[in-house]
Amino acid sequence: MSEAPAPEPLDVESPDPALFDKVVNLCKRRGFVFPSAEIYGGFRSTYDYGPVGVLLLRNVKEAWWRSMVQFRHDVVGLDAAILSPPAVWEASGHLQNFTDPLVDCRVCRERFRLDKLDDPEVCPNCGAKQSFTEARQFNLMFRTYAGPVEGAGAEVFLRPETAQGMFVNFKNVLETSRKRPPFGIAQVGKSFRNEITPGNFVFRTREFEQMEMEYFVPPAEAGKWYEYWCAERLDWYVGLGIPAAKLRLRAHDADELSHYSAGTSDVEFLFPWGWDELEGIANRTDYDLRQHAEHSGERLEYFDQAAGERYVPHVIEPAAGATRAAMAFLMAAYDEEEVAREGQGKGELRTVLRLHPRIAPYKVAVLPLSKKPELQAPANEVLGLLQPHLMCDYDETQAIGRRYRRQDELGTPFCVTVDFDTLDDHAVTVRDRDTMAQDRVSIAGLLDHLDPRLDP
Ligand code: ATP
Repeated sequence: MSEAPAPEPLDVESPDPALFDKVVNLCKRRGFVFPSAEIYGGFRSTYDYGPVGVLLLRNVKEAWWRSMVQFRHDVVGLDAAILSPPAVWEASGHLQNFTDPLVDCRVCRERFRLDKLDDPEVCPNCGAKQSFTEARQFNLMFRTYAGPVEGAGAEVFLRPETAQGMFVNFKNVLETSRKRPPFGIAQVGKSFRNEITPGNFVFRTREFEQMEMEYFVPPAEAGKWYEYWCAERLDWYVGLGIPAAKLRLRAHDADELSHYSAGTSDVEFLFPWGWDELEGIANRTDYDLRQHAEHSGERLEYFDQAAGERYVPHVIEPAAGATRAAMAFLMAAYDEEEVAREGQGKGELRTVLRLHPRIAPYKVAVLPLSKKPELQAPANEVLGLLQPHLMCDYDETQAIGRRYRRQDELGTPFCVTVDFDTLDDHAVTVRDRDTMAQDRVSIAGLLDHLDPRLDP
């Protein structure tokens, strides 16, 4: 077997504005992401994840869960309700404080979020100067009604973050899980924010998925654990293939801090438009537990029997966006290279998503060289062997070179080609996405060949 050389490092010097359109086009063309309700003209920055997008997104969430819950003994999971009563958001401070400053341009009537404007004096839509109205605070929570009667008593909110589910269940989890501080509660799920200016594809949408963990610690240890989680979360992205040079940690200035935070750092990624947030790691102090204790009348504390002392734990929260992370993985993985056309010697441009195998939608594509019936039995045998272990694609039409290119664009790490020699030697050709190197591997040894390469 030939050992494949590592792929060339990507250019990480500066943002690449052209990359944005390339990735968005690829997402539509190959079935990663579709505009929602497209046959009705689309629906305002809302997106649907297609056959490969749903796999990518599941893999991102699964990789997070694996590192945050499965591989730890101090973190447990939760799946809390999306609909929640006003009392939760009254206590958390969201009814009062979860607002963005909204300005209208008096000339073109467009609306903007004041804190995201490059120049607060100039309208980015029509170029008018000093045309903005006074800023108004706009609450981002979606409000609706539970039950048949619309009225004050029936008012509910779609959660704008998953975090509050962990705080309101703190006591339940403490009593049932046998965990004690420092310990965490993790959750992955949808959140909703009525963003003033959604945009940049799935970077900012009104409906999105979050991956959040609340880590409850003795108050004196909050600083230590804040540093720990900042480093840990940055490493998670690097471990899944985003070049370290495209990532950075940025500490918030005092005037940026949320109402509950004693310190926040963002993991930022070099998007095509520049550095922007992937995840926030916040030291939330004991704000949330104290607020919920006060509003609910429940004691939300921990009694440390050894020390004979009762305290309200402080909370360190790494809060990431699953949909936003999926987009960053795609942007970081996108590559184009000039290659000799396989079998023809002519140069062509190859587009390849160099996704980490854990994130890649399909791990393997099984490709019978032709649709002839005699290749179907061994192709099905190979598929049957791999499918219990790995997410596989199967494709039997078109020239093999075009099928390889398609799999390159999906980021599939390996293509397994079943050809007429397979009938005699019970072996298949395994093609590596990154190097295009091909190895002949026996069907019996196929899983052993793929396993270490897919789980590095
Ligand atoms: P911003 O300042 O950009 O509005 P935020 O700092 O309020 O975001 P958090 O409340 O810290 O965001 O949310 C945690 C994570 O959830 C973010 O880092 C991001 O990855 C994700 N997220 C937040 N809002 C959105 C959104 N509208 N669309 C997609 N992902 C989002």
